[in-house]
Amino acid sequence: MPRRIAVISVHTSPLAQPGTGDAGGMNVYVLETSKELARRGIAVDIFTRATSSSDPHLVEAAPGVTVRNVVAGPFEGLGKSDLPSQMCPFTAAVLREEAANEPGHFDLIHSHYWLSGQVGWLARDRWRVPLVHTAHTLAAVKNAALADGDAPEPWSRQAGEQQLVDVSDRLVGNTIEESRQLQRYYGARPGKIDIAAPGADLVRYTPGPAGAARDRLGIDRGEKVVAFVGRIQPLKAPDVLLRAAAAVLAGDRSMPVRVLIVGGASGSGQHGYDLVALARELGIEDRVTFLPPQPPAELAEVYRAADVVAVPSYSESFGLVALEAQACGTPVIAADVGGLGVAVADGVTGALVPGHGVAEWSAALSRLLADDGSRARLAAAAPRHAAGFSWSHTADALIDCYQRALLEHGGPGISPRRAGAPAERVLRRKRNRGRIV
Ligand code: UDP
Repeated sequence: MPRRIAVISVHTSPLAQPGTGDAGGMNVYVLETSKELARRGIAVDIFTRATSSSDPHLVEAAPGVTVRNVVAGPFEGLGKSDLPSQMCPFTAAVLREEAANEPGHFDLIHSHYWLSGQVGWLARDRWRVPLVHTAHTLAAVKNAALADGDAPEPWSRQAGEQQLVDVSDRLVGNTIEESRQLQRYYGARPGKIDIAAPGADLVRYTPGPAGAARDRLGIDRGEKVVAFVGRIQPLKAPDVLLRAAAAVLAGDRSMPVRVLIVGGASGSGQHGYDLVALARELGIEDRVTFLPPQPPAELAEVYRAADVVAVPSYSESFGLVALEAQACGTPVIAADVGGLGVAVADGVTGALVPGHGVAEWSAALSRLLADDGSRARLAAAAPRHAAGFSWSHTADALIDCYQRALLEHGGPGISPRRAGAPAERVLRRKRNRGRIV
């Protein structure tokens, strides 16, 4: 077992409010898994970039979980695409912080997202500990399923991800599908990949009375509510939901449909991605309610208030929102992409829609909204399905992965086998085989 691990999350703090900007499921994942690991006696230090001069250097996020706000570059105004320029200062600061400790302070590094992996790669070689890497999203997968108007991920990101697939000691994927994507697009060795399905906070997200939730949100109890929750960007495709709702209403204007959109602007495609204007253009502005990003307690009320939660994403490595909604007893209608096929049990807890066309989405939506009996059946099964995914299960899978990494490496505090194969030699070997590095 590792005693203390360094978790690296450069581009977004686990303490940031998810659902806007760059903060989303990864933040929730990092914080929740860290809390579970700490409960099992593994101390966790999370290194992230300070984004305000008022960020305290150290924050105890939970017993045994310390968030270290590392100063690297200007506090504000740096987008995710600017961050590669600040990797040197960030890495230098991480190495300096560790140098203040006794040698062998960390037993293992777990990096999240490719930028963090680049930092972890160097730190791994310096500290002589294993590097476990979780990509969370992959440029090659995103680019293969781009939404209209969404900017492709740059080639440099894919090259960075390729390096991490090659040099990490172990890789963590959310689902078997993600493991296949790592193999198909990046040539990852199957034996290097562990699966750790994400979870939901099953104490926070529980079924509850929809009427009371609607009263609190100011939503009419008689309406049929379809909610979208998440970062608002073309990749997440809330526009698909608006178009589908407009088509349902075009068929029957008297249908009491309300679309509830919860979240804030995010991502490269946010300029010109205006849902208020789209709702107006579609003539359904009186049927759409927008709410800013909500903290978990309020979000649970949103899920409970909804008859259906829609996840129309073009690409989704898992889809925590789908899981949280089901934990609250709400059926989910989701695009059949990535991990959503695991998060949603098609026909049992919701419906998977094969594409993103208005016809297929409006047909699936009106079927669900019109059939109260079938919705009730899906709603009853949803919490049982969600109960199979808890952060505690995720932490168990991560610990298995860490143990494998340490074993392959020689165990905590033991001089590593890899010490003789630093990053540059690995790179040279790959280059010689003509691979991207
Ligand atoms: N979220 C939130 N408040 C909001 C919207 C979203 O706390 O207003 C959280 C939500 O609970 C979920 C996460 O943001 O845990 C989104 O994760 P998901 O996997 O659905 O999408 P991602 O952001 O990773 O693409």
